[in-house]
Amino acid sequence: MKMPEASFFEWQGQFNSETDCLNHIKKMRWPNGFMCPRCGCEHAYELTTRQLYECSQCHKQTSVTADTLFHGSRIPLTKWFWAIYFLGSDKGSISALRLSKLIDVNWRTARLVLSKLRTAMGHRDSLYRLSGVIEIDDALVGGKRKGKRGRGAAGKTPVLVAVESKGKKAGFIAMQAVNRVCHDNVEQFVAKHLTIQQEVHKDGLPALNIIDKTQQHEARVTPSELVDEWLPWVHIAIGNLKAFLLGTFHGVTGKFLQEYLNEFCYRFNRRQMEREIPNRLLNLAIIHAPVHSH
Ligand SMILES: [Zn+2]
Repeated sequence: MKMPEASFFEWQGQFNSETDCLNHIKKMRWPNGFMCPRCGCEHAYELTTRQLYECSQCHKQTSVTADTLFHGSRIPLTKWFWAIYFLGSDKGSISALRLSKLIDVNWRTARLVLSKLRTAMGHRDSLYRLSGVIEIDDALVGGKRKGKRGRGAAGKTPVLVAVESKGKKAGFIAMQAVNRVCHDNVEQFVAKHLTIQQEVHKDGLPALNIIDKTQQHEARVTPSELVDEWLPWVHIAIGNLKAFLLGTFHGVTGKFLQEYLNEFCYRFNRRQMEREIPNRLLNLAIIHAPVHSH
């Protein structure tokens, strides 16, 4: 489904007040009008705050933001909506520090808002299974020093990467941070992100051999100068990821890495519809269950 594209001015015009934001959530949650979740009655009173409906039959009160990503948040919806716009419209992402200044909240709050949005992005993409020809590889990212597998890797986190190869184009992508590249982690990653019995290309790393349990895999031990021919897309994706992490976050540590991977993949997977991302992300926040802070 195509979603509207949004410029800064359109967004500002559309979501100018709390009432605008609440009305938008109501329209998206109850496109055919409010219905009481307890008794199904379609008649309700809007309480004066406009954030609650009270069922005229059973008197159950329903919050407009209950069961959405905005649930339990103390910041105004206008700030949430702007956070969604800034995160969704900037290819290079946004840091918590910059967001905190733009929407006038403290750093911790900005960090939490971004964390919830990135978690939702990951859940959205985990509904998809990669298929066709798939390239898989691992990479070490984050930390301050450059490092390769097995040496000089201090402070770096291993990441498993899978990309659909469509010949001259890449398709969908999935990435997961792991504590180490071992059979168990690879098996879980493949089960979560790949349709079974696909054609998987990978290199000769033994931990990746577990893939042959569920996939038709072909491993090649490639000299480093040929590796880009055998696994072109996965290496382009890893290069882009490293640039993305360095640009905005100046190197990321393990704890938050998966959130950034979620965002990177979400954006990559929607690169043909970049200008729709703010509205897609807003819709996701409305249909996504609350994410508890950590
Ligand atoms: Zn009711």
